[in-house]
Amino acid sequence: LLQVFMPLNILGFIYREVRRCLIDVESMFKLLGHRSKLTICPQPLAVADDFDALRFDRVSFSYDGRRKVLNNVSFDIPKGSKVALVGSSGSGKSTLGRLLFRFYDVDSGAVRFGDENINQLDVDDWRQQLGVVPQDTVLFNETLGANLRYGDPTCSDEELAEAIAHADLTQFIAKLPDGLETMVGERGLKLSGGEKQRVSIARMLLKKPQIMIFDEATSALDSRSEQSILAALASVAKDHTSLVIAHRLSTIVDADNIVVLHEGRVVEQGSHQQLLALKQHYFAMWNLQQQSQQSD
Ligand code: ADP
Ligand code: MG
Repeated sequence: LLQVFMPLNILGFIYREVRRCLIDVESMFKLLGHRSKLTICPQPLAVADDFDALRFDRVSFSYDGRRKVLNNVSFDIPKGSKVALVGSSGSGKSTLGRLLFRFYDVDSGAVRFGDENINQLDVDDWRQQLGVVPQDTVLFNETLGANLRYGDPTCSDEELAEAIAHADLTQFIAKLPDGLETMVGERGLKLSGGEKQRVSIARMLLKKPQIMIFDEATSALDSRSEQSILAALASVAKDHTSLVIAHRLSTIVDADNIVVLHEGRVVEQGSHQQLLALKQHYFAMWNLQQQSQQSD
């Protein structure tokens, strides 16, 4: 019996802790089972409230100390730009996200926020600058309004309405009989994958992070949801710095820079048009996706 209840206890504890302070990290990084390798900086620096770029500077990383999962990865995300990360499954995209969040530290190279190596920064302070729209958003058994306000429990009604509008949720909420008072989650209204992602976008906007990370859902969305998320993303990304981990290339054709990862290395980077013209990795991925869309 103990064997059954112990893990449940631990899960309950982790659930409450995660819910309390890490709402936006959610399942993206699968906290459970990750052994932390963080080096603690004795005198961490406060995070600057401005920066010119976030930089991955010759980053290499291995989970087990043997197989390199990232190999000399370099790219920049200039402030205000939208950078997309693409590559086949296992190429290292989520790992880059985990390094950015400092669930692990790099083995060599650095991730820099402006001039500062992020491992010199106060970890909590740093994570506060990052907003995530995870692949699979967790909704709590509470009202939709309460779920949205997790991004910033102190936000005003006006700020909430603005975030809802940017996330393209205004009409959706207007159609619910109880509006923001509607109960959601396992014991309430079930939202579709696309709707949940838009709830996540609104939460993130309320948090007002300096950098936004959008981990696109791998599962197919119907094209109306996809259009709606695209609209929300475009509206959000316009005046923010964002990193989009993309599976559907159609969502990132407008990115300022597209970084193509293959087996832990950056094999190409550039705009959609530049990458198509290279007729290599990105070109092949694009053609493959166009073909599968036509056959739908
Ligand atoms: P992507 O997000 O591009 O699909 P990941 O970053 O998740 O790729 O994974 C990159 C590589 O690292 C894969 O080979 C994967 O099997 C491995 N990997 C991912 N997470 C772990 C982990 N926690 N421990 C060991 N290896 C891992
Ligand atoms: Mg991944």
